[in-house]
Amino acid sequence: CGIIGYVGERPALPLILSGLKRLEYRGYDSVGIALLGEEEICVVKNKGRIRDFELDLADLNFPSFCGIGHTRWATHGIPSRENAHPHLDCAGGIALVHNGIIENYRSLRLCLSEDGHVFRSETDSEVIVHLLEGEGTPLERLVKAVGKLKGSFALCILFKEDPGAIYGVRMSSPLILGVGNGENFLASDVPAFLQNTNRVVFIEDGEIVRVTRSGWEIFDFEGRKKSGSSVVTIPWD
Ligand code: GLU
Repeated sequence: CGIIGYVGERPALPLILSGLKRLEYRGYDSVGIALLGEEEICVVKNKGRIRDFELDLADLNFPSFCGIGHTRWATHGIPSRENAHPHLDCAGGIALVHNGIIENYRSLRLCLSEDGHVFRSETDSEVIVHLLEGEGTPLERLVKAVGKLKGSFALCILFKEDPGAIYGVRMSSPLILGVGNGENFLASDVPAFLQNTNRVVFIEDGEIVRVTRSGWEIFDFEGRKKSGSSVVTIPWD
Protein backbone atom coordinates (compact mmCIF):
# COMPACT_ATOMS: atom_id res chain seq x y z
CA CYS A 1 0.00 0.00 0.00
CA GLY A 2 3.02 2.24 -0.29
CA ILE A 3 5.65 2.67 -2.98
CA ILE A 4 9.01 4.38 -3.05
CA GLY A 5 11.68 4.81 -5.69
CA TYR A 6 15.15 6.31 -5.40
CA VAL A 7 17.76 7.27 -7.96
CA GLY A 8 20.85 9.26 -7.04
CA GLU A 9 24.40 9.19 -5.78
CA ARG A 10 23.81 7.47 -2.47
CA PRO A 11 23.28 3.74 -1.87
CA ALA A 12 19.61 3.18 -2.64
CA LEU A 13 18.72 0.44 -0.16
CA PRO A 14 18.86 2.38 3.16
CA LEU A 15 16.84 5.23 1.64
CA ILE A 16 14.23 2.83 0.28
CA LEU A 17 13.91 1.07 3.64
CA SER A 18 13.57 4.29 5.61
CA GLY A 19 10.97 5.45 3.07
CA LEU A 20 9.01 2.24 3.50
CA LYS A 21 9.06 2.62 7.28
CA ARG A 22 7.57 6.08 6.92
CA LEU A 23 4.77 4.61 4.82
CA GLU A 24 3.99 1.92 7.44
CA TYR A 25 1.03 3.94 8.74
CA ARG A 26 -0.83 3.08 5.51
CA GLY A 27 -0.96 -0.59 6.58
CA TYR A 28 0.65 -3.59 4.86
CA ASP A 29 1.12 -7.35 4.97
CA SER A 30 4.26 -7.80 2.81
CA VAL A 31 7.41 -5.91 1.86
CA GLY A 32 9.75 -6.01 -1.12
CA ILE A 33 12.54 -4.15 -2.88
CA ALA A 34 14.26 -4.24 -6.28
CA LEU A 35 17.70 -2.81 -6.91
CA LEU A 36 19.11 -2.05 -10.32
CA GLY A 37 22.72 -3.14 -10.75
CA GLU A 38 25.03 -2.96 -13.75
CA GLU A 39 24.19 -6.46 -14.99
CA GLU A 40 20.99 -7.46 -13.27
CA ILE A 41 18.03 -6.58 -11.11
CA CYS A 42 18.06 -7.93 -7.56
CA VAL A 43 14.69 -8.58 -5.88
CA VAL A 44 14.11 -9.42 -2.22
CA LYS A 45 10.55 -9.73 -0.89
CA ASN A 46 8.53 -11.51 1.76
CA LYS A 47 5.32 -11.37 3.72
CA GLY A 48 5.54 -9.88 7.19
CA ARG A 49 6.92 -6.78 8.83
CA ILE A 50 9.68 -4.45 7.66
CA ARG A 51 11.73 -5.19 10.79
CA ASP A 52 11.83 -8.92 9.94
CA PHE A 53 12.43 -8.13 6.30
CA GLU A 54 15.57 -6.21 7.26
CA LEU A 55 16.99 -9.48 8.62
CA ASP A 56 16.46 -11.04 5.15
CA LEU A 57 18.62 -8.21 3.79
CA ALA A 58 21.42 -8.50 6.33
CA ASP A 59 23.70 -10.51 4.03
CA LEU A 60 22.80 -8.69 0.83
CA ASN A 61 25.80 -7.21 -0.92
CA PHE A 62 24.44 -5.55 -4.04
CA PRO A 63 25.69 -2.00 -4.61
CA SER A 64 22.99 0.07 -6.28
CA PHE A 65 22.06 3.71 -6.63
CA CYS A 66 18.67 3.09 -8.16
CA GLY A 67 15.82 1.04 -6.72
CA ILE A 68 12.17 0.67 -5.78
CA GLY A 69 10.29 -0.62 -2.73
CA HIS A 70 6.76 -1.65 -1.86
CA THR A 71 4.54 -2.37 1.10
CA ARG A 72 1.60 -4.51 0.01
CA TRP A 73 -1.97 -4.52 1.21
CA ALA A 74 -3.18 -7.66 -0.55
CA THR A 75 -6.31 -7.30 -2.69
CA HIS A 76 -5.76 -10.18 -5.17
CA GLY A 77 -3.89 -13.23 -3.88
CA ILE A 78 -3.04 -14.08 -0.27
CA PRO A 79 -0.12 -12.44 1.54
CA SER A 80 2.87 -14.61 0.53
CA ARG A 81 6.39 -14.24 -0.81
CA GLU A 82 5.27 -15.02 -4.38
CA ASN A 83 2.49 -12.44 -4.27
CA ALA A 84 4.67 -9.74 -2.68
CA HIS A 85 5.96 -7.03 -5.00
CA PRO A 86 8.18 -6.28 -6.93
CA HIS A 87 7.12 -8.54 -9.79
CA LEU A 88 9.55 -9.46 -12.56
CA ASP A 89 8.91 -10.12 -16.24
CA CYS A 90 9.81 -13.57 -17.63
CA ALA A 91 13.40 -12.56 -18.49
CA GLY A 92 14.07 -10.75 -15.21
CA GLY A 93 14.83 -7.46 -16.96
CA ILE A 94 11.86 -5.46 -15.66
CA ALA A 95 10.79 -5.02 -12.02
CA LEU A 96 7.49 -3.41 -11.05
CA VAL A 97 5.66 -2.34 -7.92
CA HIS A 98 1.97 -1.43 -7.97
CA ASN A 99 -0.49 0.24 -5.67
CA GLY A 100 -4.12 -0.11 -6.63
CA ILE A 101 -6.31 -2.62 -8.43
CA ILE A 102 -6.29 -3.76 -12.07
CA GLU A 103 -9.98 -4.43 -12.70
CA ASN A 104 -9.56 -6.26 -16.01
CA TYR A 105 -6.62 -8.42 -14.94
CA ARG A 106 -8.45 -11.71 -15.53
CA SER A 107 -8.93 -11.17 -19.25
CA LEU A 108 -5.41 -9.73 -19.61
CA ARG A 109 -3.93 -12.69 -17.78
CA LEU A 110 -5.80 -15.13 -19.99
CA CYS A 111 -4.50 -13.48 -23.19
CA LEU A 112 -0.96 -13.23 -21.86
CA SER A 113 -0.97 -16.88 -20.73
CA GLU A 114 -2.19 -17.95 -24.17
CA ASP A 115 0.76 -16.00 -25.61
CA GLY A 116 3.14 -18.04 -23.44
CA HIS A 117 3.73 -15.74 -20.48
CA VAL A 118 4.34 -17.70 -17.28
CA PHE A 119 2.83 -16.18 -14.15
CA ARG A 120 4.49 -16.61 -10.77
CA SER A 121 1.87 -14.92 -8.56
CA GLU A 122 -1.89 -14.67 -8.14
CA THR A 123 -1.88 -10.89 -8.12
CA ASP A 124 -3.65 -8.54 -10.48
CA SER A 125 -0.40 -6.53 -10.60
CA GLU A 126 1.72 -9.14 -12.35
CA VAL A 127 -0.16 -8.71 -15.65
CA ILE A 128 1.37 -5.22 -15.96
CA VAL A 129 4.96 -6.42 -15.97
CA HIS A 130 4.13 -9.04 -18.63
CA LEU A 131 2.42 -6.37 -20.74
CA LEU A 132 5.72 -4.47 -20.64
CA GLU A 133 7.67 -7.25 -22.34
CA GLY A 134 8.34 -6.98 -26.05
CA GLU A 135 9.70 -4.59 -28.63
CA GLY A 136 10.31 -0.85 -28.40
CA THR A 137 11.67 1.60 -25.87
CA PRO A 138 10.49 1.43 -22.26
CA LEU A 139 8.31 4.51 -22.87
CA GLU A 140 6.73 2.99 -25.98
CA ARG A 141 6.00 -0.21 -24.10
CA LEU A 142 4.54 1.73 -21.16
CA VAL A 143 2.24 3.67 -23.48
CA LYS A 144 1.01 0.43 -25.01
CA ALA A 145 0.54 -1.24 -21.63
CA VAL A 146 -1.31 1.59 -19.84
CA GLY A 147 -3.74 1.73 -22.77
CA LYS A 148 -4.87 -1.78 -21.87
CA LEU A 149 -5.26 -1.28 -18.11
CA LYS A 150 -8.56 -0.54 -16.35
CA GLY A 151 -8.59 0.38 -12.67
CA SER A 152 -6.33 2.29 -10.33
CA PHE A 153 -2.57 2.18 -10.45
CA ALA A 154 0.48 3.96 -9.15
CA LEU A 155 3.54 2.19 -10.52
CA CYS A 156 7.30 2.34 -10.12
CA ILE A 157 9.28 0.36 -12.67
CA LEU A 158 12.94 -0.47 -13.34
CA PHE A 159 14.14 -1.50 -16.81
CA LYS A 160 17.53 -3.19 -17.01
CA GLU A 161 18.07 -1.60 -20.43
CA ASP A 162 17.67 1.91 -18.94
CA PRO A 163 19.97 1.79 -15.91
CA GLY A 164 19.85 4.93 -13.82
CA ALA A 165 16.17 5.59 -14.47
CA ILE A 166 12.94 4.87 -12.63
CA TYR A 167 9.64 5.09 -14.44
CA GLY A 168 6.50 6.15 -12.59
CA VAL A 169 2.88 5.96 -13.75
CA ARG A 170 -0.21 7.37 -12.11
CA MET A 171 -3.93 6.65 -12.52
CA SER A 172 -6.27 7.14 -9.55
CA SER A 173 -3.59 6.25 -6.97
CA PRO A 174 -1.23 8.86 -5.55
CA LEU A 175 2.33 9.33 -6.87
CA ILE A 176 4.66 12.16 -5.94
CA LEU A 177 8.09 13.10 -7.24
CA GLY A 178 10.58 14.33 -4.65
CA VAL A 179 13.21 16.63 -6.18
CA GLY A 180 16.62 16.48 -4.50
CA ASN A 181 20.15 17.59 -5.34
CA GLY A 182 21.74 14.95 -7.55
CA GLU A 183 18.98 12.57 -6.52
CA ASN A 184 15.25 12.17 -6.97
CA PHE A 185 12.47 10.16 -5.34
CA LEU A 186 9.07 8.79 -6.25
CA ALA A 187 6.58 7.83 -3.56
CA SER A 188 2.94 7.39 -2.77
CA ASP A 189 3.21 9.99 -0.01
CA VAL A 190 5.52 12.86 0.91
CA PRO A 191 6.71 11.53 4.32
CA ALA A 192 8.53 8.73 2.49
CA PHE A 193 11.24 11.18 1.38
CA LEU A 194 10.58 14.37 3.35
CA GLN A 195 13.77 13.98 5.44
CA ASN A 196 15.71 14.28 2.19
CA THR A 197 13.77 16.89 0.25
CA ASN A 198 10.66 19.02 0.63
CA ARG A 199 10.50 19.99 -3.05
CA VAL A 200 7.85 17.98 -4.85
CA VAL A 201 6.00 17.58 -8.13
CA PHE A 202 2.51 16.09 -7.86
CA ILE A 203 2.25 13.57 -10.70
CA GLU A 204 -1.25 13.72 -12.18
CA ASP A 205 -3.61 11.03 -13.39
CA GLY A 206 -2.66 9.96 -16.89
CA GLU A 207 1.03 10.79 -16.55
CA ILE A 208 4.20 8.76 -17.01
CA VAL A 209 7.42 10.10 -15.52
CA ARG A 210 10.99 9.06 -16.25
CA VAL A 211 13.22 10.01 -13.34
CA THR A 212 17.03 10.04 -13.30
CA ARG A 213 19.39 11.39 -10.68
CA SER A 214 19.73 14.70 -12.54
CA GLY A 215 16.18 15.34 -13.70
CA TRP A 216 12.82 14.08 -14.87
CA GLU A 217 10.57 14.10 -17.90
CA ILE A 218 6.78 13.79 -17.85
CA PHE A 219 4.72 12.24 -20.66
CA ASP A 220 1.01 11.68 -21.19
CA PHE A 221 -0.47 8.22 -21.83
CA GLU A 222 0.07 8.77 -25.58
CA GLY A 223 3.79 9.24 -24.96
CA ARG A 224 3.74 13.00 -25.72
CA LYS A 225 6.12 15.03 -23.62
CA LYS A 226 4.45 17.42 -21.21
CA SER A 227 5.88 20.61 -19.78
CA GLY A 228 4.80 23.06 -17.14
CA SER A 229 4.58 20.78 -14.11
CA SER A 230 5.55 22.97 -11.20
CA VAL A 231 7.82 22.17 -8.28
CA VAL A 232 6.06 22.89 -4.98
CA THR A 233 7.91 23.46 -1.71
CA ILE A 234 6.25 21.73 1.25
CA PRO A 235 6.68 23.72 4.47
CA TRP A 236 7.94 21.70 7.40
CA ASP A 237 9.99 22.11 10.56
N1 GLU B 1 -3.65 -5.19 -5.99
C1 GLU B 1 -2.27 -5.40 -5.72
C2 GLU B 1 -2.04 -6.68 -4.95
O1 GLU B 1 -2.93 -7.22 -4.36
C3 GLU B 1 -1.61 -4.21 -5.02
C4 GLU B 1 -2.09 -3.98 -3.62
C5 GLU B 1 -1.49 -2.71 -2.98
O2 GLU B 1 -1.85 -1.60 -3.40
O3 GLU B 1 -0.67 -2.86 -2.06
O4 GLU B 1 -0.98 -7.19 -4.93
